[in-house]
Amino acid sequence: MDRKTLILNFRWLTLLLAAGLVQLSGPGLFGDAALTTALVMLLGSNLILHAGPAPLFEYRPHWFLLVLFDLFLVSVAVQRLGAADGEAFFLYLPVVGLAACIHGQPGLFATVAVTAGVYGGLSWLDLRAAALAGGAAPDISGLAFRSAMLAAMGAAFGYMAQRVRIQTVGQQLAEARRRDLEMVVRANHRLGASLNQGELLGELIRTMAELVSAWRCSVVHLDADGQGTILVSREILAADERAATRTLRIRMADYPELAQATATGQVLRLSDVADNPLTAPVRGKLAQVGIRSLLVVPLTLGDRVLGTLMLSLAKRRGIFSERDAHVAELVANMAAGALKNAYIHETLEAERHSLHQLAVTDPLTSVYNRRFFDMRLEEEFLLAERHSLPLSLIMLDVDHFKRINDSHGHTVGDKVLVELARVVGATLRQTDCFARFGGEEFVILMPLTDRMGAESKAEEIRLAVKEITLPVKGESLRISVSLGVSSGGSEGSDQSVSLLQAADRAVYAAKRAGRDQVRFRAPRATPGRAGREDRVSG
Ligand code: GH3
Ligand code: MG
Ligand code: MG
Repeated sequence: MDRKTLILNFRWLTLLLAAGLVQLSGPGLFGDAALTTALVMLLGSNLILHAGPAPLFEYRPHWFLLVLFDLFLVSVAVQRLGAADGEAFFLYLPVVGLAACIHGQPGLFATVAVTAGVYGGLSWLDLRAAALAGGAAPDISGLAFRSAMLAAMGAAFGYMAQRVRIQTVGQQLAEARRRDLEMVVRANHRLGASLNQGELLGELIRTMAELVSAWRCSVVHLDADGQGTILVSREILAADERAATRTLRIRMADYPELAQATATGQVLRLSDVADNPLTAPVRGKLAQVGIRSLLVVPLTLGDRVLGTLMLSLAKRRGIFSERDAHVAELVANMAAGALKNAYIHETLEAERHSLHQLAVTDPLTSVYNRRFFDMRLEEEFLLAERHSLPLSLIMLDVDHFKRINDSHGHTVGDKVLVELARVVGATLRQTDCFARFGGEEFVILMPLTDRMGAESKAEEIRLAVKEITLPVKGESLRISVSLGVSSGGSEGSDQSVSLLQAADRAVYAAKRAGRDQVRFRAPRATPGRAGREDRVSG
């Protein structure tokens, strides 16, 4: 039976019963103007309702008014019967309806039975008292008839009230589900927007705390030995957004719920930790922090690319409901998918990066190789020229390196090159490009640096290299370098290669002048440009 039929049928039944009662035991159907009007209004309103569309019968505030009207009508009808018990009916139907709404069917039947019995008993006593006082003898059959009528009406009314309750609860449930679904979809969008694992974990616990109104929320990583690490928790996030990557080791003995959820791989919901045997060993601790209810959701990642992750939620007040567990599991599954994607993306990115590093790095010294340097030189040169910016280049060559190789072997020679690269690299800025040009020659490309700046940097490098001491067979090996500087860009040549040639010539000049020195050479002037050659230091 749908809601519309149910309501209409109930009102027809009410009408019939009221009319029947009035006709049988009262003043007759047309004996009372007020009663007749009320019955006609009920009849009319029901006829009108018949024509109404089904959605009109959905649970709305106006139905409350209609029910009040019906109650009023029934109460008037019964009261007009003139029985001594008439006033009791005013309360009868609302009580039945309320019991039905609150307790469901058992409550409904109990209330109908008890109230009909009480009504019958009281009425009988009333009538007997009236008889003893000299009135008419109690009309037992009439009383039984009225009691039965009332019980039937109460049952019908209660049944309808209960159906309304079920439908209302159903509607509320559907509405709550729709809201949950909306939130979950929004959460999915947010989680899908990031390909960074740290960000994702942060987003996951923020979303989760919101969705199930958790007080504490964290993601715990369990390694192969069953050791736990809190990767990110809502409290850490609240204190410091950047701390999303901060990790915290935990003692698994303090978290029996985590151990259990790991073992079963299922969502674990502990409504109240105070009376759960699982958390008995840590009850004191939980009470201390004020945790009442716990929810643990495994983040299943298929082939376990990230190891076992657990989403751990805690409530201070209230308990986690089944709906909370369901929503948490749904979002956790989505997050697991997003985390997996992020993991794959980050791994690929890291591989791409290391391949790129391999392609541009010198394997011995780990500084850039010549290939990369040539590329950067071309780029920086064009940039400097277009925007009239200074650009300098330092080339350095180890003095008498052949001798080191010859007297100590190539391995020592290699060590010298590695140490040299480390020391020189430490003196440079992030924007400088330091590369091994070949053999024991290195180059440094310095954007936004003019001749003066480059010469002083070269001098700083020369002195730093002289400080290098390498212990070889009990002795300390010392080295020196000859450096050539050239500057271009706004004031120099229009060819990047001439900048390189100028630095090379400067190195030769330094060698010729006795090594362990810095020399400057301007790039060869192209027509229309001025070139200078200068000696700077020695
Ligand atoms: P100077 O530059 O002062 O004129 O003398 P030098 O002895 O350094 O000059 P030269 O260019 O003749 O010697 C460079 C030596 O560097 C020759 C080569 O064997 C050595 N060499 C080049 N690459 C490497 C390397 O990767 N490892 C080692 N150990 N030696 C290398
Ligand atoms: Mg050389
Ligand atoms: Mg050399």
